[in-house]
Amino acid sequence: MNDPIVGIDLGTTNSAIGVVDSGFPLLLADEEGKRIMPSAVWIGEDGSVEIGRKALRRRGADGARVITSVKRLMGRELDTREKQSLFGKSPEEISALILGELKRVAEWRLGQPIRKAVITVPAYFHDGQRQATKRAGELAGLEVVRIINEPTAAALCYGLDQLGERSRVAVYDLGGGTFDLSILEMQEGVFQVLATHGDTRLGGDDLDLAMATAMARRAGLDWQALPQEQRVRWQVEAERVKCALSSSERETFALPFYDGVNSFSADVTREQWQEWMQPWIAKTIACCHKALNDAQLLPQEINAVVLVGGSTRIPAVRAAVEQCFGRVADVSQHPDEAIALGATIQAGMLSGAMKQMVLLDVTPLSLGIETLGGLMNVLIPRNTTIPCKAGETFTNAVAGQKAMRIRVLQGEREMARDNWELGQVDVPFEPAAKGQARIGVQFRLDENGILEVLARDVSTGIDRILVIENSAVDVSDEKVGQMVSESVEHAFEDMAERVWTEAKLKAEELLPAVEGALSIGSEWLSEEELQTIEAARADVRHALEGKEAHRLKQAVQELDRATEALAAKIVEYAMEQATGGLGS
Ligand code: ADP
Ligand code: MG
Repeated sequence: MNDPIVGIDLGTTNSAIGVVDSGFPLLLADEEGKRIMPSAVWIGEDGSVEIGRKALRRRGADGARVITSVKRLMGRELDTREKQSLFGKSPEEISALILGELKRVAEWRLGQPIRKAVITVPAYFHDGQRQATKRAGELAGLEVVRIINEPTAAALCYGLDQLGERSRVAVYDLGGGTFDLSILEMQEGVFQVLATHGDTRLGGDDLDLAMATAMARRAGLDWQALPQEQRVRWQVEAERVKCALSSSERETFALPFYDGVNSFSADVTREQWQEWMQPWIAKTIACCHKALNDAQLLPQEINAVVLVGGSTRIPAVRAAVEQCFGRVADVSQHPDEAIALGATIQAGMLSGAMKQMVLLDVTPLSLGIETLGGLMNVLIPRNTTIPCKAGETFTNAVAGQKAMRIRVLQGEREMARDNWELGQVDVPFEPAAKGQARIGVQFRLDENGILEVLARDVSTGIDRILVIENSAVDVSDEKVGQMVSESVEHAFEDMAERVWTEAKLKAEELLPAVEGALSIGSEWLSEEELQTIEAARADVRHALEGKEAHRLKQAVQELDRATEALAAKIVEYAMEQATGGLGS
């Protein structure tokens, strides 16, 4: 990979980093195999630093020196208490430590230096906050090639950029410490934020705290009076139980020897837990309504709803959002990885590593050439992924023919005349007996939709090349729809005409052939055999007048069968002549 660009979700609670590798966006895991890193920094009294999970492990013993949620302070004037909480460092410097750790993990995984990044920020971040994020990146030794909105990254991750112009997406993001709901609209290929509403003091942490204090109260403790290291234990256990209740109906909250002597244990059911959570969930839904109102949209005018942020793993949250928007949410991506993956996709698009995916397209209509009898011979069927290549060998229909005209067609109809002509080319070839010339025709459609038609006289190797720019793929949806529906409408008559044409071509070939065969070998046949052949010939001639496709097809097959024995005898005779001549 030459100079890759990484994608980074610099979250309030958790962060992640990814890169596009061989066309696939993927998040990079640290030495413990974890793709998600807590946005936490511990600064020791001697100035030493621990980042991520290691920093969180210091919460019990040295909680006061563990900095979390620094994102809330980015690009703001700090008051004295806030300044103190950072031990003399600026929010940018703390964020730079987190970014530096992500960079280290990526460099270790990829085995090469990382210089460039795309970083996400909340849609509501103002310019100062965006600048501060950029500075944090620079402090970490990264050139921030782009800052993108978190909801946009989430929408990219879900592939919603493919929805088309004017489509609208609601992104519901409930993380550890913040909530926001953004409504995006695709305008000229990029997402515009129509509205965003949220609460910067609402998230999973509040739920943990609610459960921890409720449990401590049950144990008869006064939360306010608890020392910091004990509070942390109650909160850590509360978060574990909360997460467990997202997938199971019941979980035991257990803190053995929480104060060194006493133990606490209580069962919590999902039902109870959902009741506790209701007020928080209701607050987020109120924001959804406000955002819809701001954007002057009704829930049914939203084309897709996606859930991101770890807290949307909670079933009750998902249910409430689905009810609010009246539609099922797309949950195909990991809610806590979607933003980082989207940033990675954006980074891949910027570096060119994701080019293939963006350009991947299909042929809207079939491509082929006209063959004998005015039939459409499809070489590349409709909906084939491009780039692609296909070809066939054709032969001359008439003895002594000197050239073949290749008409390149597009469309779904059986007869050439009902399809569109994209171009034509004459291929000269050595005059030969009927069916002796060999002309290879190959269609090559590249990723830009340019169709190259290569026609080659196989005996001389002489090529003719016809290049058709763009027209093969650039067809309006309307015209495609029209062509497809016409082909369905005329399916029966088209098919009948094809069967008729094919049978007629076969009959016109077979009748003179039978004539010739009879003149050579009629004396080898019994009276009965001769009569069968005569009857079959008459039948074919008759059917040719009748214009009935299936009857002609049958008659031709019958004649073919009736003359099988004669054909075999003629071949045998010819062989005898040849070997006899050699032998004597
Ligand atoms: P942020 O965007 O704030 O950095 P995340 O999107 O990573 O945060 O979300 C972190 C939050 O998600 C935490 O509060 C965590 O407890 C919560 N969370 C993670 N998994 C689950 C789960 N299975 N059930 C409920 N909450 C969860
Ligand atoms: Mg987040």
